[in-house]
Amino acid sequence: TTHLVWLRNDLRITDNKALHAACSDPDARVLAVFIATPQQWRQHEMAPRQAAFIHANLLQVQQALAERGIPLGYHQCDDFAAAVDWLTAYCAQQQVDRLFYNRQYEINERQRDQRLEQRLSGQAICQGFDDSLLLPPGSVQTGSGEMYKIYTPFRKAFIQRLTESDIQSLPAPKPRVGGALPVTAIPEAFDYPPAEPNEDFPAGEEAALQRLRSFCREQVQDYLEQRDLPAIAGTSSLSPYLAIGVLSPRQCFNRLRAECPQLLENHDSGAFGWLNELIWREFYRHLMVAYPALCKHRPFIEWTDRVRWQDNQERLQAWQQGATGYPIVDAAMRQLNSTGWMHNRLRMISASFLVKDLLIDWRAGESYFMSQLLDGDLAANNGGWQWAASTGTDAAPYFRIFNPTTQGERFDPQGTFIRKWLPELADVPDNAIHQPHRWAEQQQRVLDYPLPIVDHKQARLETLAAFEAAKRGE
Ligand code: FAD
Repeated sequence: TTHLVWLRNDLRITDNKALHAACSDPDARVLAVFIATPQQWRQHEMAPRQAAFIHANLLQVQQALAERGIPLGYHQCDDFAAAVDWLTAYCAQQQVDRLFYNRQYEINERQRDQRLEQRLSGQAICQGFDDSLLLPPGSVQTGSGEMYKIYTPFRKAFIQRLTESDIQSLPAPKPRVGGALPVTAIPEAFDYPPAEPNEDFPAGEEAALQRLRSFCREQVQDYLEQRDLPAIAGTSSLSPYLAIGVLSPRQCFNRLRAECPQLLENHDSGAFGWLNELIWREFYRHLMVAYPALCKHRPFIEWTDRVRWQDNQERLQAWQQGATGYPIVDAAMRQLNSTGWMHNRLRMISASFLVKDLLIDWRAGESYFMSQLLDGDLAANNGGWQWAASTGTDAAPYFRIFNPTTQGERFDPQGTFIRKWLPELADVPDNAIHQPHRWAEQQQRVLDYPLPIVDHKQARLETLAAFEAAKRGE
């Protein structure tokens, strides 16, 4: 018999449910395949740097599979529809009896998989796995069988389920009879805009596992004190690996539990604080399955769609380029533009600024983030944006509006992070860094840095009025 593993957002060989299942029959011939769909990626606004990261990881997976006697084939077609056509023909050509894949939860991906299963019915047995989550969507529900809309009760029920579940990480497959294989060609790059690799995020599951191990051993205990300070590397920086499946959440959970055996009992620990973030990741994915309209960028709270957003391209561009005149926002956006990663506190501040200070539609920000992020992930990005814009379930209430100056003072008190990304403010003293123009005026100096593009106090009042009008139905 022939087993085919279709790799997508699960670019690793350890703890890969589909791969593990495909290899469980020692007599089966096991093949793997990856299909690049650049046109679909463009539609989904995948960042070129994420595509390049996928490419680099794919090469490593191909090598690791070849060492185990599993050839990874590569094919490129435009979009998901073409991928289904090609795969149907490929399965017939290779006489595939069983197709194994790990589920993706976005709406286009789910429709694609349904179509493929229909096309292959009678020809090959398809088996999908819930691999990118600790607990499958739909498995954590209220007493009346619905998805939780509020995070805290979701987390409580989630932890209850987690304690009852056996969350094991699976080993990498053993070498197949026949031994190692030569690797077949994968083009040097995808047919996608090129991007420089970011050396802070080396490709490969070994790099991801090493980072996970050292974070859980050396840093997680300080997570709660450090996680909000962008000048410190106090978070794991594992999101790019989790987003494309170089690392699994089970590996994260099991490593964390090995270092901190009391993990589920002590809710005040740094380790629990970190697990809490992994559960937010689960929450947004579970939500996306329960409410597929989220994939179509619909707000969770319907009335927020009546907010009269401002269509101001100049301001949108100033935000994108890190030229708003608010140092913490600008430093954040420049970090995003040059590295593809942004600290969580800064994602909240910069998203809030776009929506609540510039009154620009959150979807413009969601889409810009996606086009830049190395860890771009529809559920987390949409969840984060809808939280910041107060359009989501369990979001910040609309009247809670971050003050970008005081946020900067609180979370980057000495301006260490700001100075790193805004060298034009190098001479501004610590206590003036969050309002550099005030200082420049006093000192009679001219800064090569934009004046604030809006007055926060004024913008806040206009935003409150816009949300209130929308709420009243105007
Ligand atoms: P850690 O603090 O070490 O957390 C560990 C892991 O938990 C992360 O790697 C991530 O997988 C998950 N996680 C942490 N916080 C969240 C969260 N709030 N929601 C969902 N998952 C979380 N995260 C993405 O992975 N992709 C995105 O596209 C994305 N877009 C965002 C947009 C906005 C506006 C906001 C406010 C948040 C967004 N996040 C996104 C969530 C969060 O900012 C990042 O996951 C986090 O900053 C990644 O850094 P880390 O790996 O060091 O996180």
